[in-house]
Amino acid sequence: MVIKVGVLELQGDFELHHRVLQNIGIPSCSVKKKYDLEDLDGLIIPGGESTTMSLLIDSSDLRNALIKFGKKKPVMGTCAGLILMAKMVTDDRVKPLGFIDAEVSRNAYGRQIKSRQVEIDYKIGINSSLVLPTSLIRAPKITFIGDKVNIIGEYNNSPVAVIEKHFLGLTFHPELDGVGLFHKILFDSKSSVYYKKNYS
Ligand code: GLN
Repeated sequence: MVIKVGVLELQGDFELHHRVLQNIGIPSCSVKKKYDLEDLDGLIIPGGESTTMSLLIDSSDLRNALIKFGKKKPVMGTCAGLILMAKMVTDDRVKPLGFIDAEVSRNAYGRQIKSRQVEIDYKIGINSSLVLPTSLIRAPKITFIGDKVNIIGEYNNSPVAVIEKHFLGLTFHPELDGVGLFHKILFDSKSSVYYKKNYS
């Protein structure tokens, strides 16, 4: 099955997600209006500024369409995208979509100067793990997760990659390091154990 994934292009770091998807052989397109969601099999909400993106979601009349899309189709959020996917955000200016049962705190490592690249060991299957470069850029911290949320990777005892049903949330930017594993986990039905678990 060929699947086509959309990248939400309201603001932020959307461009490189197309390149990652292309590298793993998944066609992609841009999402700016609600009709762009038609015929898509998945969506990426990129990093950027979650307060701005939250406002733009409403001014573009996308909120209900995104929530409806998330009821059936896989959605991945990176950094600000994860903030928007959470159920709770410790900043009232962000109105999240409520996809992942988690609480997220914005800019939790401090200012831009505290941004960093670290190596993290990700659990990608029952018996397999992989160490990958991980760029945390004015990154959020996941401060609470519900019992149905699985942790794929952690840094300093807080989750940086979580999956719940067909939702994947990352506090970092895999697209900046050219890492395609997470896009594959969620969107590539041939290689994804998670996808099979949730859809077959
Ligand atoms: N600090 C940004 C926010 O709160 C997220 C940063 C990012 O996406 N790299 O929205």
